[in-house]
Amino acid sequence: MPELPEVEAVCGKLRAEAAGAPVRRLVIQRRRITSPDDPARVEAAAAGRTLDAIDRVGKNILLRLGPVTLHAHLRMTGNLCVIPDHRLRPAAASAWFELACGRGIVFEDPRGLGTLRLLDGPLPGLGPEPLDPGFTAERFVAAARASRQPAKLFLMDQRKVAGIGNIYAAEALFHAGIDPRRPIGRIAPRRLAALHAVVVRVLNDAVQFAYITYSRPGGFREADDYTPAVYGREGESCVACGTPIRRVAQGGRSTYFCPKCQR
Ligand SMILES: [Zn+2]
Repeated sequence: MPELPEVEAVCGKLRAEAAGAPVRRLVIQRRRITSPDDPARVEAAAAGRTLDAIDRVGKNILLRLGPVTLHAHLRMTGNLCVIPDHRLRPAAASAWFELACGRGIVFEDPRGLGTLRLLDGPLPGLGPEPLDPGFTAERFVAAARASRQPAKLFLMDQRKVAGIGNIYAAEALFHAGIDPRRPIGRIAPRRLAALHAVVVRVLNDAVQFAYITYSRPGGFREADDYTPAVYGREGESCVACGTPIRRVAQGGRSTYFCPKCQR
Protein backbone atom coordinates (compact mmCIF):
# COMPACT_ATOMS: atom_id res chain seq x y z
CA MET A 1 0.00 0.00 0.00
CA PRO A 2 1.34 3.47 -0.74
CA GLU A 3 2.40 5.10 2.51
CA LEU A 4 2.98 8.78 3.17
CA PRO A 5 6.23 9.03 1.14
CA GLU A 6 4.67 7.45 -1.94
CA VAL A 7 1.55 9.60 -1.67
CA GLU A 8 3.75 12.70 -1.30
CA ALA A 9 5.61 11.73 -4.48
CA VAL A 10 2.28 11.35 -6.32
CA CYS A 11 1.23 14.80 -5.07
CA GLY A 12 4.58 16.38 -5.92
CA LYS A 13 4.35 15.18 -9.50
CA LEU A 14 0.76 16.39 -9.80
CA ARG A 15 1.77 19.80 -8.43
CA ALA A 16 4.62 20.09 -10.92
CA GLU A 17 2.54 18.98 -13.91
CA ALA A 18 -1.04 20.07 -13.29
CA ALA A 19 -1.35 22.73 -10.56
CA GLY A 20 -3.33 25.65 -11.98
CA ALA A 21 -4.77 23.59 -14.83
CA PRO A 22 -8.39 24.23 -15.84
CA VAL A 23 -10.51 21.07 -15.69
CA ARG A 24 -12.99 20.59 -18.53
CA ARG A 25 -14.70 17.61 -16.92
CA LEU A 26 -14.31 14.67 -14.58
CA VAL A 27 -15.48 11.21 -15.57
CA ILE A 28 -16.09 8.58 -12.91
CA GLN A 29 -15.79 5.20 -14.57
CA ARG A 30 -15.86 2.94 -11.50
CA ARG A 31 -18.96 4.21 -9.77
CA ARG A 32 -18.31 2.83 -6.31
CA ILE A 33 -15.21 4.99 -5.77
CA THR A 34 -17.39 7.99 -4.85
CA SER A 35 -19.69 6.07 -2.46
CA PRO A 36 -21.71 7.31 -0.62
CA ASP A 37 -21.63 10.33 -2.97
CA ASP A 38 -23.50 10.06 -6.25
CA PRO A 39 -20.86 9.89 -9.05
CA ALA A 40 -22.83 12.43 -11.11
CA ARG A 41 -22.68 14.90 -8.23
CA VAL A 42 -18.89 14.53 -7.94
CA GLU A 43 -18.49 14.93 -11.71
CA ALA A 44 -20.65 18.06 -11.73
CA ALA A 45 -18.77 19.58 -8.79
CA ALA A 46 -15.41 19.31 -10.59
CA ALA A 47 -16.42 20.32 -14.11
CA GLY A 48 -15.24 23.75 -15.24
CA ARG A 49 -13.10 24.37 -12.17
CA THR A 50 -9.39 25.04 -11.90
CA LEU A 51 -7.12 22.64 -10.04
CA ASP A 52 -5.76 25.31 -7.69
CA ALA A 53 -3.73 23.10 -5.38
CA ILE A 54 -2.87 19.54 -4.46
CA ASP A 55 -2.57 19.09 -0.70
CA ARG A 56 -1.76 16.00 1.34
CA VAL A 57 -2.57 14.99 4.89
CA GLY A 58 -1.08 11.63 5.81
CA LYS A 59 -2.06 9.29 2.98
CA ASN A 60 -4.97 11.50 1.90
CA ILE A 61 -4.83 13.62 -1.25
CA LEU A 62 -6.90 16.80 -1.35
CA LEU A 63 -7.58 18.22 -4.81
CA ARG A 64 -8.59 21.87 -4.41
CA LEU A 65 -10.91 22.97 -7.18
CA GLY A 66 -12.05 26.46 -6.25
CA PRO A 67 -14.66 26.07 -3.50
CA VAL A 68 -14.74 22.30 -4.02
CA THR A 69 -12.32 19.80 -2.45
CA LEU A 70 -12.08 16.26 -3.75
CA HIS A 71 -10.61 13.74 -1.35
CA ALA A 72 -8.66 10.94 -3.03
CA HIS A 73 -7.30 7.88 -1.24
CA LEU A 74 -5.11 5.48 -3.19
CA ARG A 75 -5.62 2.47 -0.86
CA MET A 76 -3.71 -0.60 -2.10
CA THR A 77 -2.89 0.02 -5.75
CA GLY A 78 -4.16 3.49 -6.70
CA ASN A 79 -2.17 6.14 -8.54
CA LEU A 80 -2.97 9.59 -9.89
CA CYS A 81 -0.89 10.68 -12.84
CA VAL A 82 -0.89 13.18 -15.67
CA ILE A 83 -0.96 11.86 -19.25
CA PRO A 84 -0.31 13.94 -22.38
CA ASP A 85 -3.71 13.15 -23.94
CA HIS A 86 -6.80 12.18 -21.93
CA ARG A 87 -7.91 9.87 -24.75
CA LEU A 88 -4.86 7.68 -24.14
CA ARG A 89 -5.96 6.67 -20.67
CA PRO A 90 -5.84 2.97 -19.71
CA ALA A 91 -9.15 1.18 -20.17
CA ALA A 92 -9.24 0.19 -16.52
CA ALA A 93 -8.95 3.72 -15.10
CA SER A 94 -11.25 4.31 -12.12
CA ALA A 95 -11.74 7.95 -13.13
CA TRP A 96 -10.09 10.69 -15.14
CA PHE A 97 -10.01 14.44 -15.40
CA GLU A 98 -10.05 15.92 -18.86
CA LEU A 99 -7.98 19.11 -18.70
CA ALA A 100 -8.77 22.09 -20.93
CA CYS A 101 -5.39 21.68 -22.66
CA GLY A 102 -6.29 18.12 -23.70
CA ARG A 103 -4.10 16.37 -21.17
CA GLY A 104 -5.60 14.06 -18.59
CA ILE A 105 -5.19 13.20 -14.92
CA VAL A 106 -5.87 9.50 -14.56
CA PHE A 107 -6.90 7.71 -11.40
CA GLU A 108 -5.44 4.30 -12.13
CA ASP A 109 -6.21 1.52 -9.71
CA PRO A 110 -5.88 -2.16 -10.71
CA ARG A 111 -7.56 -3.44 -7.56
CA GLY A 112 -10.15 -0.70 -7.49
CA LEU A 113 -10.15 -0.02 -3.76
CA GLY A 114 -9.19 3.65 -4.02
CA THR A 115 -11.78 6.36 -3.41
CA LEU A 116 -12.61 9.82 -4.77
CA ARG A 117 -15.19 11.76 -2.81
CA LEU A 118 -16.37 15.27 -2.13
CA LEU A 119 -14.96 16.62 1.11
CA ASP A 120 -17.06 19.01 3.15
CA GLY A 121 -15.06 20.29 6.12
CA PRO A 122 -11.90 18.87 7.65
CA LEU A 123 -10.74 15.26 7.36
CA PRO A 124 -12.17 13.36 10.31
CA GLY A 125 -10.13 11.34 12.77
CA LEU A 126 -6.63 12.21 11.61
CA GLY A 127 -3.65 13.04 13.79
CA PRO A 128 -0.95 15.55 12.82
CA GLU A 129 0.73 15.33 9.45
CA PRO A 130 4.34 14.36 10.28
CA LEU A 131 5.99 16.52 7.62
CA ASP A 132 4.14 19.68 8.71
CA PRO A 133 5.69 22.17 11.17
CA GLY A 134 2.75 21.51 13.52
CA PHE A 135 4.12 18.01 14.21
CA THR A 136 6.37 19.04 17.09
CA ALA A 137 8.36 16.85 19.47
CA GLU A 138 6.30 18.25 22.37
CA ARG A 139 3.02 17.25 20.76
CA PHE A 140 4.35 13.79 19.82
CA VAL A 141 5.78 13.09 23.28
CA ALA A 142 2.56 14.21 25.00
CA ALA A 143 0.41 11.94 22.78
CA ALA A 144 2.79 9.02 23.29
CA ARG A 145 2.93 9.41 27.07
CA ALA A 146 -0.88 9.32 27.20
CA SER A 147 -1.08 6.06 25.22
CA ARG A 148 -0.95 2.43 26.33
CA GLN A 149 -0.40 1.11 22.82
CA PRO A 150 2.69 -0.85 21.83
CA ALA A 151 5.13 1.54 20.14
CA LYS A 152 4.57 0.21 16.62
CA LEU A 153 0.78 0.25 16.82
CA PHE A 154 0.91 3.80 18.16
CA LEU A 155 2.97 4.96 15.18
CA MET A 156 0.54 3.27 12.77
CA ASP A 157 -2.56 4.71 14.47
CA GLN A 158 -3.74 7.39 12.02
CA ARG A 159 -5.42 9.29 14.88
CA LYS A 160 -2.02 9.74 16.56
CA VAL A 161 0.16 10.43 13.52
CA ALA A 162 -1.20 10.58 9.97
CA GLY A 163 0.40 8.56 7.20
CA ILE A 164 2.82 6.06 8.76
CA GLY A 165 2.31 2.47 7.67
CA ASN A 166 3.90 -0.89 8.33
CA ILE A 167 7.24 -0.33 6.60
CA TYR A 168 8.24 3.06 7.96
CA ALA A 169 6.94 2.35 11.48
CA ALA A 170 9.33 -0.64 11.67
CA GLU A 171 12.20 1.36 10.20
CA ALA A 172 11.74 4.35 12.52
CA LEU A 173 11.66 2.11 15.61
CA PHE A 174 14.83 0.36 14.49
CA HIS A 175 16.68 3.64 13.95
CA ALA A 176 15.46 4.88 17.36
CA GLY A 177 16.49 1.61 19.06
CA ILE A 178 12.99 1.02 20.48
CA ASP A 179 11.37 -2.42 20.83
CA PRO A 180 8.13 -2.24 18.78
CA ARG A 181 6.26 -4.23 21.46
CA ARG A 182 7.03 -1.79 24.27
CA PRO A 183 4.10 0.23 25.59
CA ILE A 184 4.92 3.66 24.21
CA GLY A 185 3.62 5.49 27.27
CA ARG A 186 6.36 3.92 29.40
CA ILE A 187 9.25 5.12 27.25
CA ALA A 188 11.24 8.04 28.64
CA PRO A 189 10.37 11.45 27.12
CA ARG A 190 13.98 11.90 26.01
CA ARG A 191 13.82 8.70 23.92
CA LEU A 192 10.40 9.67 22.56
CA ALA A 193 11.77 13.03 21.42
CA ALA A 194 14.55 11.15 19.65
CA LEU A 195 11.92 8.87 18.04
CA HIS A 196 10.04 11.96 16.81
CA ALA A 197 13.19 13.22 15.06
CA VAL A 198 13.81 9.77 13.55
CA VAL A 199 10.23 9.53 12.23
CA VAL A 200 10.63 12.85 10.41
CA ARG A 201 14.04 11.86 9.04
CA VAL A 202 12.95 8.39 7.86
CA LEU A 203 9.87 9.83 6.11
CA ASN A 204 11.83 12.64 4.43
CA ASP A 205 14.42 10.14 3.20
CA ALA A 206 11.66 7.86 1.95
CA VAL A 207 10.00 10.73 0.06
CA GLN A 208 13.22 11.22 -1.91
CA PHE A 209 13.28 7.52 -2.84
CA ALA A 210 9.55 7.53 -3.67
CA TYR A 211 10.16 10.34 -6.20
CA ILE A 212 12.71 8.11 -7.93
CA THR A 213 10.27 5.19 -7.97
CA TYR A 214 7.42 7.28 -9.36
CA SER A 215 9.59 8.88 -12.04
CA ARG A 216 9.72 5.51 -13.80
CA PRO A 217 6.95 4.50 -16.17
CA GLY A 218 4.69 1.61 -15.31
CA GLY A 219 3.78 0.14 -11.99
CA PHE A 220 5.37 0.74 -8.66
CA ARG A 221 5.67 -0.86 -5.30
CA GLU A 222 5.97 0.99 -2.06
CA ALA A 223 9.54 1.45 -0.87
CA ASP A 224 10.79 0.16 -4.24
CA ASP A 225 14.02 2.13 -4.07
CA TYR A 226 14.26 2.35 -0.30
CA THR A 227 16.53 -0.21 1.36
CA PRO A 228 14.92 -1.21 4.66
CA ALA A 229 17.11 -2.00 7.65
CA VAL A 230 14.60 -4.43 9.19
CA TYR A 231 11.35 -4.54 7.19
CA GLY A 232 10.94 -7.84 5.33
CA ARG A 233 14.32 -9.12 6.54
CA GLU A 234 13.33 -11.93 8.95
CA GLY A 235 16.32 -14.17 9.70
CA GLU A 236 18.81 -11.90 7.93
CA SER A 237 21.60 -10.18 9.85
CA CYS A 238 20.98 -6.85 11.56
CA VAL A 239 22.91 -4.15 9.68
CA ALA A 240 24.20 -2.79 13.01
CA CYS A 241 25.01 -5.87 15.12
CA GLY A 242 24.57 -9.00 12.97
CA THR A 243 21.83 -10.55 15.13
CA PRO A 244 19.11 -12.26 13.05
CA ILE A 245 16.10 -9.98 12.49
CA ARG A 246 12.93 -11.27 14.15
CA ARG A 247 9.35 -11.14 12.94
CA VAL A 248 6.31 -11.05 15.23
CA ALA A 249 2.64 -10.34 14.56
CA GLN A 250 1.15 -7.09 15.85
CA GLY A 251 -2.35 -5.92 15.04
CA GLY A 252 -2.60 -8.55 12.32
CA ARG A 253 0.53 -7.32 10.52
CA SER A 254 4.15 -8.47 10.55
CA THR A 255 6.59 -6.49 12.64
CA TYR A 256 10.33 -6.81 12.00
CA PHE A 257 12.95 -5.79 14.54
CA CYS A 258 16.40 -6.51 15.94
CA PRO A 259 16.03 -8.10 19.38
CA LYS A 260 19.46 -6.80 20.42
CA CYS A 261 19.45 -3.21 19.10
CA GLN A 262 15.83 -2.45 20.02
CA ARG A 263 14.96 -2.22 23.71
ZN1 LIG B 1 20.96 -5.24 15.83
